[in-house]
Amino acid sequence: MTGRKDWDTYFMDIAYMASTRSQCSRRRVGAVLVQGKKLLGTAYNGAPMGVQDCSEAGCMLVEEFEVKLVDGNEQMVRKQRCIRTIHAEQNLLLFTDRSDREGSSVYVTDQPCWTCANMLANSGIKEIVYHRAYPKDSDKVNALMTDCGIVLRRLEAYVPPAGILTDVMN
Ligand SMILES: [Zn+2]
Ligand SMILES: [Zn+2]
Repeated sequence: MTGRKDWDTYFMDIAYMASTRSQCSRRRVGAVLVQGKKLLGTAYNGAPMGVQDCSEAGCMLVEEFEVKLVDGNEQMVRKQRCIRTIHAEQNLLLFTDRSDREGSSVYVTDQPCWTCANMLANSGIKEIVYHRAYPKDSDKVNALMTDCGIVLRRLEAYVPPAGILTDVMN
């Protein structure tokens, strides 16, 4: 098919455009709020206003142990995570009105982490559409969304616009 973009692609493209504002080199996340076909907000992951971000002060790394399946065996893997930023989904909630969120959809470049999913579950939205998987919290998040009756959809065939940095450091 040529020509016009479908709505999913259109809004995910905008989420990826928002992600280009992020200054965290470990993961650039963008999120947009959509009511029907109307764009009601955009956000990305970043430090609070008025304080240094990751590009200025470096990432604020914490180490965590994660259980991972390696060749069929569970192994403890040490991982680093940047905690300097407010996540894109959280910024989206901070900068949109509850009345705009009721019954709306969030398009987000990455599957929400547990904390963001928990907050989105209480935000009034009814659907989350994402592109990149986030396996660490995936099982918990899927179960939560089922319990809350929120639709969680992955755009597996989606390809981000050319020229956008999509590297992720896990
Ligand atoms: Zn960072
Ligand atoms: Zn998050």
